[in-house]
Amino acid sequence: MEMTESQIKEIVDKVIAKVTLDAPAGSMHGVFADMNVAIEKAKEAQRIVRVMSMDQREKIISVIRRKIKENAETLARMGVEETGMGNVGDKILKHLLVAEKTPGTEDIKTTAWSGDRGLTLVEMGPFGVIGAITPCTNPSETVLCNSMGMIAGGNTVVFNPHPQAVKTSQFAINLVNEASLEAGGPDNVAVTVEKPTLDSSAVMMKHKDIPLLVATGGPGVVTAVLSSGKRGIGAGAGNPPALVDETADIRKAAQDIVNGCTFDNNLPCIAEKEVVAVDKIFDELLNYMVKEQGCYLASKDVQDKLVKTVINEKGALNRKCVGRSAKVLLKMVGVEVPDNIRCIVFEGPKEHPLISTELMMPILGLVRARDFKDAVEKAVWLEHGNRHSAHIHSKNVDRITEYARAIDTAILVKNGPSYAALGFGGEGFPTFTIASRTGEGLTSAATFTKRRRCTMSDSLCIR
Ligand code: NAD
Repeated sequence: MEMTESQIKEIVDKVIAKVTLDAPAGSMHGVFADMNVAIEKAKEAQRIVRVMSMDQREKIISVIRRKIKENAETLARMGVEETGMGNVGDKILKHLLVAEKTPGTEDIKTTAWSGDRGLTLVEMGPFGVIGAITPCTNPSETVLCNSMGMIAGGNTVVFNPHPQAVKTSQFAINLVNEASLEAGGPDNVAVTVEKPTLDSSAVMMKHKDIPLLVATGGPGVVTAVLSSGKRGIGAGAGNPPALVDETADIRKAAQDIVNGCTFDNNLPCIAEKEVVAVDKIFDELLNYMVKEQGCYLASKDVQDKLVKTVINEKGALNRKCVGRSAKVLLKMVGVEVPDNIRCIVFEGPKEHPLISTELMMPILGLVRARDFKDAVEKAVWLEHGNRHSAHIHSKNVDRITEYARAIDTAILVKNGPSYAALGFGGEGFPTFTIASRTGEGLTSAATFTKRRRCTMSDSLCIR
């Protein structure tokens, strides 16, 4: 059959379009122009990963660990340069934490019952291709930590990262695929698109081959994922209060709170965002913060200028202020301070916009409480029912229990800086996806698996 010129052109155009869509962007593994193609590639990779032995999966995880360590500074610098948020030193520490302490395949456990009637196993099986949406505040940290847990669980993952952190996220995704290839695994165990948008996110959320969605971000994305009609893990916003009572070691409390609050310029969602202190020790605590912990005490005038600068008329955060250092924030309102100033503090009512809003910058408002009961009420109000994170500095165990019950958060840190909850100076494993809204808490490989019961009846059993 003879073909017309226009028929030939149509076929050539289709082939070119397919090649362009299939081709990874530049030399980056796992980066595709089109979301549907990215998902197809992750699906092909998952067919291989799901039949790999645990040892083979673990080999991939261990190469990812090594590559994160080798690239920790590059990843940290990229994150700060691209988003303008956070600081390189702390971001290096966060990457090393992910590399060293993120659980791998050891998190995948089988439960067994054996008895007169046979053997029953409950195994943790993969979901398949997981759709993950990641924030700009911990971009590569989240991509890498999610990838390790999801691959350890036998899944592959398609990311729709925050548009403000695309390059950093793609670099991390490329690194995960390089690790897989080096360990003898497939390419495209983690994929994404060249230009992630809300449209590419919608394609991912609706795709028939994505059975599980994992959202790490603010309330909008968590609601979107939970409205998708699919299983969703929602790691949403917080506004963690640190409560200090008169039984605490006040000097240490000041140090721990400022250390936690200023870590990576307050970007971690678990970080201390405000303080509620009882009247008896309020002035002492504030005094230690200012005299010993590099805090700048903001006057009413500076507070007012900060409100206008960091929150716009619509009540939304000015993105240019999120994750900036105290020195930079103060400069924005015309105040020059020496380099050792790391946090801005002031006393205010709980309704103060710099206190009740989740700012993600080193501005720490202190709310005065009459007594412990009043402090608990104020802290619970400030957490806004996010059930995310809270902190307490107290030596009274009954009070700690009372606070824990009242605030009911996924994370409660007692007498330490917030980052202790991520295994940094505390026990336990790290994650940058804390499923506060859907209740899984700190996510790890086991979270990204489904349960399969396998029962074998004993045929020799006398009935
Ligand atoms: P963000 O909500 O602006 O963005 C997060 C991601 O969601 C981005 O990829 C963004 O593009 C996407 N997104 C936003 N709205 C969406 C929608 N309607 N549909 C689909 N995708 C959507 O958050 P951010 O500024 O990147 O990160 C900071 C926020 O995330 C804070 O509220 C912080 O507390 C929270 N956070 C929570 C955790 C946790 O583990 N719970 C971890 C990190 C950050």
